[in-house]
Amino acid sequence: MNEAPPGLTVAIVEDDSSLRRALRTSLRARGYDVRDVALGHEGIVLAADGVIDLMILDLGLPDIDGIEVLTRIRTFSELPVIVLTARDQQSDKVRALDAGADDYVTKPFDIEEVLARIRAALRRAPTAAEINSVVRSHGIEIDLRLRTVVVDGVGVHITKTEWAILEQLVANPGKLLTHRELLKRVWGTQYSTENEYLRVYIGQLRKKLGDAAASPRFILTEAGVGYRWIAQSAPGDG
Ligand code: CA
Repeated sequence: MNEAPPGLTVAIVEDDSSLRRALRTSLRARGYDVRDVALGHEGIVLAADGVIDLMILDLGLPDIDGIEVLTRIRTFSELPVIVLTARDQQSDKVRALDAGADDYVTKPFDIEEVLARIRAALRRAPTAAEINSVVRSHGIEIDLRLRTVVVDGVGVHITKTEWAILEQLVANPGKLLTHRELLKRVWGTQYSTENEYLRVYIGQLRKKLGDAAASPRFILTEAGVGYRWIAQSAPGDG
């Protein structure tokens, strides 16, 4: 029975090779794509790759403890993680949940139970595409989740207000956002006519991004109306 929506990838991090194989076979039979590894650090790499929709993580791993693996993953990803372990002590469950586990299954387990937990976790979770909210376009890389901006390989420090403007522009590529719309979204309704605020902040933002109004690379001025994020993506640029 093929029950998984197409393109969903589950990572299995488990050092017991026969158990890993059994999980892989069951998941593939249900239509999931599977990536399986035996070591904790390999699991962290898989999570960082951003191609995984859910991770099944054993706690007792030979290189890094599963709780530590989870803790490190949680510094950069909200990927759903179901912890799998032979330890049945309450304290381990609590530690795993505190570290950010979405669910917990104790060995020995029924594969049907694991599959049900996976379905439940995926229903609650954003997809890999949603997690990987990184915008790359002609020399700029913006991580909407981590709130980082890199232009031509150099990190750029963006203030809170500048970020609020940038986020609105980037989230609406190619769309004309009026002064009023931007002011309302960034500062609030009562500021919707304060065009000077916007002019000043857009100017600062352009300077930081190495952009210029006269020859726009990222932000296009629609005179008297508003601004537009220039939506273009060169092949091989991202
Ligand atoms: Ca183990």
